[in-house]
Amino acid sequence: MAGQMSPWIGNIIFVLGFGASIVIRIPHDKVSQKTKIEESRKDLLEKLLLSLMMVGLVILPGLSFAGLLSFASYRAAPGAVAVGTALMAASLWFFRRSHADLGRNWSVSLELREGHSLVTGGIYRYIRHPMYTSIYLMALGQAFLISNWLAGPATIVTFTLMFLSRLGREEGMMLDRFGPTYEGYRRTTKRLVPWVW
Ligand code: SAH
Repeated sequence: MAGQMSPWIGNIIFVLGFGASIVIRIPHDKVSQKTKIEESRKDLLEKLLLSLMMVGLVILPGLSFAGLLSFASYRAAPGAVAVGTALMAASLWFFRRSHADLGRNWSVSLELREGHSLVTGGIYRYIRHPMYTSIYLMALGQAFLISNWLAGPATIVTFTLMFLSRLGREEGMMLDRFGPTYEGYRRTTKRLVPWVW
């Protein structure tokens, strides 16, 4: 075992990171529960995709920690835990920033709140979907931290499905609501990666 870190270290860091994201979200969840929904496009597909996210973030990691997916586990490469930890830290930074900047306009799904305003400042000045950037960083972190072929890459797969369905629909909703203002905002920003895409 010389030089080989216990797989538990990666698992524990993943749980702590994911746990921290839940803690970051708690106050925003409370505000969101108190803020009236003016328009909702949360349909069956959205609900299914949100549940699928839980499969990737909670159920598959849980099964692997319980030893039920050991047929798919592998030895982590040296440095995997360090890379995964850095990705988790970056994810949490984006997660905090985006929640703080969106304020009461945040929803877990496709919803417009009463008095919804278009946020174009803070991190939203550079990218339109920093929260999705954050989730991708966590998904990559998970893949480095959990050395299991099923539980590791699970969120990369589930969030890609969610993201593909969300992106167009969310921007369509914002366009319907904010029209040329959103069009202009879209022209001057990238989607996920500042200055790149
Ligand atoms: N896609 C964004 C927001 C995720 S939360 C991100 O990744 O950071 C999803 C909700 O945020 C959407 O339902 C929409 O109501 C709201 N939203 C998205 N972009 C917004 C913006 N620029 N200003 C205000 N609200 C926004």
